[in-house]
Amino acid sequence: MHKPLEGQTALVTGASSGIGFGVAEALAKAGAAVAINYHSHGEPAEKLAAEIEKAGGTAFAVGADVSDEAQLDAMFDAVRERFGTVDIVVANSGLQKDARFVDMTLDDWNTVMSVNLAGQFLTAQRAVREFVRRGPRPVSKALGKIICMSSVHEIIPWAGHVNYSASKGGIQMMMKSLAQEVAPQRIRVNAIAPGAIRTPINRDAWDSKEALDKLLTLVPYGRIGEVDDIGRAVVWLASDESDYVVGATLYVDGGMTLYPGFADNG
Ligand code: NAD
Repeated sequence: MHKPLEGQTALVTGASSGIGFGVAEALAKAGAAVAINYHSHGEPAEKLAAEIEKAGGTAFAVGADVSDEAQLDAMFDAVRERFGTVDIVVANSGLQKDARFVDMTLDDWNTVMSVNLAGQFLTAQRAVREFVRRGPRPVSKALGKIICMSSVHEIIPWAGHVNYSASKGGIQMMMKSLAQEVAPQRIRVNAIAPGAIRTPINRDAWDSKEALDKLLTLVPYGRIGEVDDIGRAVVWLASDESDYVVGATLYVDGGMTLYPGFADNG
């Protein structure tokens, strides 16, 4: 089996569930050694690391709150200690705290901003510092690769989720500005904007037939996304196959951003 990431090391934040879990699995299958970050529940991350190792790969689980600088520094230290360095960083951690705008508390706002936006800023900052510290490696044409997990809600407004959509809109410009700043150092920064992917974050949207049917009216391709769909996209963005892709957002959404309401003449 072709392993495009053989010899490379990766860190995935928020990888004890959902998309991050699937991404960590996909990176390991592609040959990367993977650090699997978890926030509060270590067990699924430990279990995934054990499964990857059993299958002949290399992985370990590492706890950290991505909104806490000291914990992030400790996590990057742990990755350096285990793997020597990191080549691929997937800033994936995210959460929702939904409320009608008039009822949204400052705490709802700040929690989402500090994990979704500041968390990705701090993670990407540590990644850039590490890529520059250790210099080029023969494993990849780029000095390092950062992939930010955005959302279709970086461009689709979302009533009742003003904090979440603002955080993802912020990720879009943070990613592009950072990509522009570090491209001369041959660091590639890109984002993936998932549509509706079957994970715990949006269980209400798919765990009954009625909810799923309603959701699918928003998806021209006619199916919900699976974490594998995102895992394959991350592997491509992390590999030299996408070496000329810099500062791009890849929408992996079954066409959700194609204004499906206009398919029938609007
Ligand atoms: P999820 O709830 O399964 O995963 C989110 C992960 O983030 C969890 O593992 C959680 O532990 C982690 N996390 C939360 N707070 C953290 C913190 N302070 N520090 C470290 N980790 C923390 O949901 P998911 O769908 O897998 O979401 C992953 C990413 O994908 C998020 O950024 C989300 O916004 C984005 N996304 C998901 C969808 C979807 O349809 N599922 C769509 C668009 C974007």
